[in-house]
Amino acid sequence: MGLVVQKYGGSSVADAEGIKRVAKRIVDAKKNGHQVVVVVSAMGDTTDELIDLAGQVSPMPTGREFDMLLTAGERISMALLAMAIKNLGHEAQSFTGSQAGVITDSVHNKARIIDVTPGRIRTALDEGNIAIVAGFQGVSQDKKDITTLGRGGSDTTAVALAAALDAEVCEIYTDVDGVFTADPRVVKKAKKIDWISFEDMLELAASGSKVLLHRCVEYARRYNIPIHVRSSFSGLRGTWVSNEPHVEQGAQKVEHAIISGVAHDVSEAKVTVVGVPDKPGEAAAIFRAIADAEINIDMVVQNVSAATTHLTDISFTLPKTDGRKAIDALEKAKAAVGFESLRYDDQIGKISLVGAGMKTNPGVTASFFEALSDAGVNIELISTSEIRISVVTRAEDVNNAVRAVHTAFGLDSDSDEAVVYGGTGR
Ligand code: ADP
Ligand code: ASP
Ligand code: MG
Repeated sequence: MGLVVQKYGGSSVADAEGIKRVAKRIVDAKKNGHQVVVVVSAMGDTTDELIDLAGQVSPMPTGREFDMLLTAGERISMALLAMAIKNLGHEAQSFTGSQAGVITDSVHNKARIIDVTPGRIRTALDEGNIAIVAGFQGVSQDKKDITTLGRGGSDTTAVALAAALDAEVCEIYTDVDGVFTADPRVVKKAKKIDWISFEDMLELAASGSKVLLHRCVEYARRYNIPIHVRSSFSGLRGTWVSNEPHVEQGAQKVEHAIISGVAHDVSEAKVTVVGVPDKPGEAAAIFRAIADAEINIDMVVQNVSAATTHLTDISFTLPKTDGRKAIDALEKAKAAVGFESLRYDDQIGKISLVGAGMKTNPGVTASFFEALSDAGVNIELISTSEIRISVVTRAEDVNNAVRAVHTAFGLDSDSDEAVVYGGTGR
């Protein structure tokens, strides 16, 4: 029996009862002969509550102190979990990200892991302990400051530790039974997926399926760590995410689906730069200003120049949390770029259809647009990759659009409704 890394999300440890339930599961894995490393998130909505609190003392909390604050959430849950395990008669030690050797760059609030040196975790395991690690945090290599990995970052901590410790598997325990063909909170008839490739999971995660974080899947693919996403509330087998399905992952039952699922995202906003001179270098200047502010953008669309004015509009989408920063950066660059005005719209949503099969099946795009049109949904932006089609619509249309597309592609299950065991969906 080898080493397993188990990650428990906030909804799985939302209260004392949850912590005790999770402690029993961890002890069971240990009793089965595994060495167990646990990554734990902050209890329930603690991180959101800390963010709200910071907002009450500062209009735009960011940087070093914000990270110091947010990492407190995971410290609480890791210590409580270690206590609950000890109470069941097993040895456990908790570690902050820094103590666990999670080394990051210095970009506060969305740091990247650049190295993992889990010496203390190895020692704790060798001494017979269960090691509990605070998720979502690390220490910067140069300044030795505490950093966080961005929202949902505990998933990445888990996979990074699994890779560094050469774990058999990384189990991600959450409040649903696995990865579904759509968010079960929106589509009651969503189906659980038995196995999904890294490639399709990467696109779903990047398109807003927050059941797994995009960076976590990227990391798992790079180091070939199989992920098992499952519920901490049920004993059911969940979804395996890996290169190829293995027998223990239900390989016999698994076929490559043409469409893996529908993802949606209402966390982005749209910025339109109005009246941009239609000449070389303008788009470069706009996106240089955005990049220098360390903002990641998603979709970009440029409208045709009106022949008479020689001006164009450029729209792009970005995380709402970076909206203020982007507007400030563009206002500063206004004189140099020479555009007329800026428009900011945070009432948008994105719907994406994902599946490697669309490379070889004609008509997927047409059926996608027909489904949206039948549901009366207006499309504002479109972007595609080889295995994904995404559209931006009004935020209020998103849930209807997801359900319509899910049905149109025959993804609705005809048996049980998808179960959501906990969490607030926040
Ligand atoms: P945790 O606190 O365990 O990290 P998250 O809230 O980050 O949990 O992720 C689990 C949630 O992801 C589910 O409750 C569900 O609402 C949402 N979700 C979105 N898309 C999917 C999907 N395709 N399959 C499963 N869950 C999804
Ligand atoms: N607690 C952090 C968050 O809510 C990290 C995580 O849960 O993965 O984003
Ligand atoms: Mg999560």
